[in-house]
Amino acid sequence: MENLKDEVLKLSEDIKGEVIEWRRHIHMYPELSGREFNTSEFVADKLKEFGVDEVLENFAGSTAVIGLIKGKKEGPTVALRADMDALPTEEKTGKPYASKIKGVMHSCGHDAHTAMLLGTAKVLCQLREKVHGNVKLIFQPCEERHDCKGAKWLVENGVLENPKVSAIFGLHVFPDLPTGYVGTKPGPFLASSDVFRVKIKGRSTHASRPHQGIDPVLISAQAVTSLHHVVSRYVDPLEPAVLTIGKIEGGFAENVIPDEVRFEGTVRALSNEVRENFPKLINRTLKGVSEAYGGNYEFEFEEGTPPLINDEKVTLFVIGKMRELLGEERVIILDRPTMGGEDFSVYLQYVPGTFIRLGSRNEEKGTVYPLHNSRFDVDEDALPVGVAVESYLALQWLITHS
Ligand SMILES: [Zn+2]
Ligand SMILES: [Zn+2]
Repeated sequence: MENLKDEVLKLSEDIKGEVIEWRRHIHMYPELSGREFNTSEFVADKLKEFGVDEVLENFAGSTAVIGLIKGKKEGPTVALRADMDALPTEEKTGKPYASKIKGVMHSCGHDAHTAMLLGTAKVLCQLREKVHGNVKLIFQPCEERHDCKGAKWLVENGVLENPKVSAIFGLHVFPDLPTGYVGTKPGPFLASSDVFRVKIKGRSTHASRPHQGIDPVLISAQAVTSLHHVVSRYVDPLEPAVLTIGKIEGGFAENVIPDEVRFEGTVRALSNEVRENFPKLINRTLKGVSEAYGGNYEFEFEEGTPPLINDEKVTLFVIGKMRELLGEERVIILDRPTMGGEDFSVYLQYVPGTFIRLGSRNEEKGTVYPLHNSRFDVDEDALPVGVAVESYLALQWLITHS
């Protein structure tokens, strides 16, 4: 398959200028989660221009665009996914292509993901003779928030069906890895991310007469402390898990015991089992502590995203093919997962696949800032690498499984 590899690398390099242009356009006009109206129109127009066989706009009432490239040969369907949303951040890169929308910025590189998947669509349309089956292109809205129509919405509305997807791949730019390199690992890769909200209810009274009321400040203090024991006492020490309470508010004055105190936190885990136990453990703790002090509580658990678990077999395939394409030394097997979240994990609960980190660090160009930072930028030399990886993986998956 030496030919195919060289062909993919050449085509990806040939369209580098275009991909950079698209990326800069999307970067200049970022749109917040669930509001990717112009971005999705831009994407749909390009897909039609390339001759993608089916282009579904406003998929399931969202801003998602789903493309389908039908190969010239029989075979299964593979999916590639890019996210399109930006963040409520004021850009401080000072670049000529910096955001023109005040307070909104592509600080997570989703502009690059969208542009690279467009590039991949163009490359695969040119190589249609060699596509054994179909390639489904998923341009997904709302990765950054739980409360709009992101991966979960698309999956619930059948994005992985018709034709049925046999595997899915996705990329994320990564400023900790130099440009030209890619990284991934089989198994747990990123954590689940769920949110909980608590209201501790007491009974208001004068600060000097605590015995006539019930103090929700004290109960909250005990609850916060006890909740931190959930991970240390009820989760297997060999299973990574985090519980953080990042917000607490209540009370009006130093001499008034208030009626209630509210706090919010997040829980993260690398396994579905640990994740699923959290609501029960948190609720039990809140119940015990509140009752002990004669108070009451309300507890709300909002499901975010599951842990991202790369399929072992598929990921070994992916690593092998990326090494074939980029060379052994440019494919890093990351030794540790991280506790960040990413809703690509939702697809992986239904079909096997792999999430890949695409190096975008370049000290000379200053693309060294972390994701979500107001100075974050992508080294654009990484774009053709991403296009080649996505194109090659799709082609090879279909050839191997047809
Ligand atoms: Zn992000
Ligand atoms: Zn992201």
